[in-house]
Amino acid sequence: MATILKTDEAIAQALSLLEAGQIVAIPTETVYGLAGDATNGEAVARIFEAKGRPSFNPLIVHVAGMVMARRIAVFDPLSIRLAEAFWPGPLTLVLPLAPDAGIHPLVTAGLDTVALRMPQGFGATLIGRLGRPLAAPSANSSGRITATTAQAVEADLGDRVPLIVDGGPTQVGLESTIVKVEGTRLRLLRPGGIAAEVIEAAARLPLLRESAAGIEAPGMLASHYAPMAAVRVEAGEVGPNEALLAFGPVRAALSENAVAVLNLSEKGDLREAASNLFSHLQALDRSGAATIAVEPIPNRGLGEAINDRLGRAAAPRTLAASEPQAS
Ligand code: AMP
Ligand code: MG
Repeated sequence: MATILKTDEAIAQALSLLEAGQIVAIPTETVYGLAGDATNGEAVARIFEAKGRPSFNPLIVHVAGMVMARRIAVFDPLSIRLAEAFWPGPLTLVLPLAPDAGIHPLVTAGLDTVALRMPQGFGATLIGRLGRPLAAPSANSSGRITATTAQAVEADLGDRVPLIVDGGPTQVGLESTIVKVEGTRLRLLRPGGIAAEVIEAAARLPLLRESAAGIEAPGMLASHYAPMAAVRVEAGEVGPNEALLAFGPVRAALSENAVAVLNLSEKGDLREAASNLFSHLQALDRSGAATIAVEPIPNRGLGEAINDRLGRAAAPRTLAASEPQAS
């Protein structure tokens, strides 16, 4: 079971767990977050594992100040104005990912944008001391209600996190408002702790509510990275002009045909496979292969989310299907 510590007693243990790539449930001003080092793929895979999410949504990256924020995302005058008006606080900005941002691709689901927020209180202190950003979705298992107290986190995730930091009930009690900055336009991706009108007043711009592509709301397929190459799942053998995305110690038939081979996890570890998924897909895409053949991946634990993502990559591109929002 998880250890529960008050904020003023928790910092040392929280830091050493995060340094070791473990996850920690922490209070923020919005809701409790399930935090892991956003630069460490295995830590991020642990977040998805603990939440039992059947799919990989991009996660919000939490920072402690503007210096850290500007290493991760590209700010323009409009996003700077919003950050100055609302940070630290419950506004998340979706911005272009900076070159060499250091954010693990599992956090952004391989996208070239990143959702960024600067929290108040314990989260800010922790991130400042760690010196690295934290990925932190809400600390609830997939499909369960968002936790606003340490006791609610314990009831839901107590057997899956080593430490829950108790900061009392959260102030806002709602997730952050997510706004995407698109050049000189702003798009509301998720209503939350700061009212849309308040953001509109600060930005002196209307918040667009219709999604650009018709369905590009958070967690929707169109907002997810899709490789240029076709993707063929459950591949038992490799065909001509195919790259191979392998899993485990045993290769598919005719693997010597593959124009490129990358293994998600030689030892068949699903957490390692999750952390390699987006970077390997991107690398095989760059190989120029027409198709990426993917070896079968067991549909247990994180395998379900891996297979969900691969299935979406394999689906016809024009038929963008929505996915249910888990949290
Ligand atoms: P959570 O971390 O569970 O509060 O959820 C984060 C939300 O932010 C999800 O709905 C994501 O789909 C959304 N999100 C995160 N990153 C991006 C991004 N780069 N573009 C669009 N939406 C994002
Ligand atoms: Mg949530």
